[in-house]
Order: sequence, then structure tokens, then C-alpha cells
Amino acid sequence: MICDSCEITRDHLTGAVVDGTFGQYCKLCLQNARRMTTSGHAQYSRDRDKEDNARDLLQPWDRAGKPSREFINSYPDEAQEMFSPQELHEHS
Ligand SMILES: [Zn+2]
Repeated sequence: MICDSCEITRDHLTGAVVDGTFGQYCKLCLQNARRMTTSGHAQYSRDRDKEDNARDLLQPWDRAGKPSREFINSYPDEAQEMFSPQELHEHS
């Protein structure tokens, strides 16, 4: 049996609609097709954006004016430069 998408002979093919075309597809092509679906991709991007924004909004200091533990965890390198070793130690 030959996959309608990659045209490689496979042991197992599954009948499915990919890109609006019904055919017999191998597991790999079906996985790729699922990953490429626009809705799935958009959802993934949105989640990533949310995470990135959350990190961007992190303040180096907490409300008490002490180094923010969350900031230190998220930006260990920046925190090392921004805070003295004593400050980092006090807060851990
Ligand atoms: Zn295939």
C-alpha cells in the first residue's frame, strides 16, 4: 500500500481527509497533518505569547523592595548581574 501523501509504501494506511482530500495516509503524514492544522497552530502560538508576556511583566523587585524570587528563577543570569550576592542570598 502506498501513502497518498508521501508516496512511500507503508504497512498500515488509514483512510482520512487531509487538506480536503480523502485518501489513504500513513501514520507519519496523519501526524504531520494534525500538527499543521491552522487551529492547533494558532492555539499553540497564543499560549506561547501568554507565557512570554508573563515573563516580560516580571519585576526584578517585589513590593517590599526585595529581589523577586520569581524574577531570579526566570532570569538567573540577569539576577546575578542586577543583585549583589548578599541580596540573592538573603532572599533564598
Ligand atoms: Zn505518508
